[in-house]
Amino acid sequence: MGQRTAVAVAGSLNLDVVMPVPHHPRPGETVLGGDHTRHPGGKGANQAVAAARLGQHVTMLGRVGDDDAGSFLTGMLDSAGVDTSAVTVTPQTPTGMAYIAVDEAGENTIIVSPGANGMFSAGDVASSAAVLADADVTLLQLEVPLDTVEAAARAAGGTVVLNPAPARELRPALLDAVDVLVLNETELEVLAGQQLPSGNLDGIVDLSRRINGPDAIVVTLGARGALLVDSEGVSYVPAVEVDVVDTTAAGDAFCGALADALVRREGLGAAVRWATRAAAVTVTRDGAQPALPSRDDVENVR
Ligand code: ADP
Repeated sequence: MGQRTAVAVAGSLNLDVVMPVPHHPRPGETVLGGDHTRHPGGKGANQAVAAARLGQHVTMLGRVGDDDAGSFLTGMLDSAGVDTSAVTVTPQTPTGMAYIAVDEAGENTIIVSPGANGMFSAGDVASSAAVLADADVTLLQLEVPLDTVEAAARAAGGTVVLNPAPARELRPALLDAVDVLVLNETELEVLAGQQLPSGNLDGIVDLSRRINGPDAIVVTLGARGALLVDSEGVSYVPAVEVDVVDTTAAGDAFCGALADALVRREGLGAAVRWATRAAAVTVTRDGAQPALPSRDDVENVR
């Protein structure tokens, strides 16, 4: 018998291929870029690594293709201590890829090819139902089919945390199965079906209250921190002031750390403060998975 799963993550694994370009190509144009670099990514995998670095026993559920990228990604999860026994290798399907071009101003364009992530099914979730039923926290995002996300939310026995990214409209049945929704301002606008009148906190609270289902909503506000809205009221947690190097995976670090705190039975307010500190460490470092902090790193944030 393996160790009991504290955090189950049902979601995406992507290979990120990053290419520097002098400028972004227009349709029909060829641009000579610099050397590409390959990095493990996908919101599911990033959040799994985030929770594992903080010391939790994490099981990842998902799919990769039967190719080098797939073995690279599962190998990276293995070395972070994530249990990959529920990551299925899909024959004749490519691993999910994200092609990221970065120009000299640091502006990105990203093409995501879901590949095997698109084959991750409700049937796969059913095969790992025992893991989800036993986990203290199940972490979900939207880079895999919605039916799969819904099946995982229903199968979860513990606290369900959904990070609805990339944003799309969700069925009430899914939102009803979610305990804690963690989203940024753009995702809030999509889910609430309305634009934020302004960036002020009252407007954000108003929109959050339009989303029915979850017990608590956490809106991440980038350099401004995060807002927790639940039945007990509203609390604002400012960001930790740090020298920013790269904000990639800040949201993933936040979600993984929130899950970690919930496993440790912290209250939501304390969990959001912990997540804010973990995300602050992440933005001081380059890259996605390599930037995710250990427990010591986060404890040293004041
Ligand atoms: P996403 O990347 O998903 O859009 P945010 O940009 O809201 O998410 O960032 C997630 C969290 O990361 C924020 O709530 C905050 O705690 C932290 N964070 C992001 N940017 C900064 C920053 N410049 N300084 C400190 N913390 C930051």
